[in-house]
Amino acid sequence: MLPKNSADYRTILWALAMPVVMLVQFRDPSLIKYMWPLGCYMALAAGVIAHNHLHTPTFHGKRMNQFFGTWLSIFYGYPTFAWMPTHNLNHHKYLNKAGDATITWRYGNKNTVWIAATYFFVSSYYQSGPIKEYIRKAKQNNPKLYRHIMTQYAVWGGTYVCLIALAIAWHGPVTGIYTVGLATGLPVFFALWTIMLFNYMQHVHTDPWSEHNHSRSWTGKIVNFLLFNNGLHAVHHEHPNAHWSELPKYHAEIADKIDPRLIEPSVFRWFFVRYFLATFIPSLQTQQVGRAPFDPPDGELVVETASVDALDAGSNVARV
Ligand SMILES: [Zn+2]
Repeated sequence: MLPKNSADYRTILWALAMPVVMLVQFRDPSLIKYMWPLGCYMALAAGVIAHNHLHTPTFHGKRMNQFFGTWLSIFYGYPTFAWMPTHNLNHHKYLNKAGDATITWRYGNKNTVWIAATYFFVSSYYQSGPIKEYIRKAKQNNPKLYRHIMTQYAVWGGTYVCLIALAIAWHGPVTGIYTVGLATGLPVFFALWTIMLFNYMQHVHTDPWSEHNHSRSWTGKIVNFLLFNNGLHAVHHEHPNAHWSELPKYHAEIADKIDPRLIEPSVFRWFFVRYFLATFIPSLQTQQVGRAPFDPPDGELVVETASVDALDAGSNVARV
């Protein structure tokens, strides 16, 4: 099966490498101490690729796209259909304003290492609402979508049961649990936690009312290579259906219109300064740029509950 965009040969290569990295560690657990960081990166890449795939399906055929989404679910750590209700239909619609299940300012507008580190747990809890609503609507109105969702859950959960059984069969209970824990459990937890942290870092203290200052972007070449240009977040919001390989071109068009405080070259440096150093030197914490998400220009606080409308998604839902 060929991808629609030739840049996705790399996506496919990464997706094929995911089980190899995992199973090499299953076969020989003595390699885990060297390979677990690679396993974590592969799981994170699975999440990033799932995000890209849910915006712009990788293949022509619907079945192939559904298969690919289910494949990625195993390595990312959660059924990838969930990107649709929580991200495409919710986060992209509300953009960190009231109604976004993933808001960065739920308990205040400070950006500290503690809030960043615990954001995964808070955000996961609030994302469960749109996911349940999406499944309920699919069950009522879209049996094919509902079957796809249930298949993803079954394959995802079933594969983990098989992996646990395989590891114990090969290595006994102690080394088996160690193997599945570090070659599968750790990477998928890392991926889920880090993807949500990225969402937090990309929007905390940005201005959702602004034309271009609604997101923070990282322009580093290495991070954008490793994460398929997902550092370029402002243009992703402005061109949500653009292929990931086109984002640098779109970013170049608006880079000089973005507040310089919201364009960072290195995500690692930003992380070190804003979370590690800022713990000791609070003045290094980020400050709100422009208007805060809870401060609408007309002065009225619009509060909407997080919701999705599966049928609004039209063909996008039907394809994946
Ligand atoms: Zn997106």
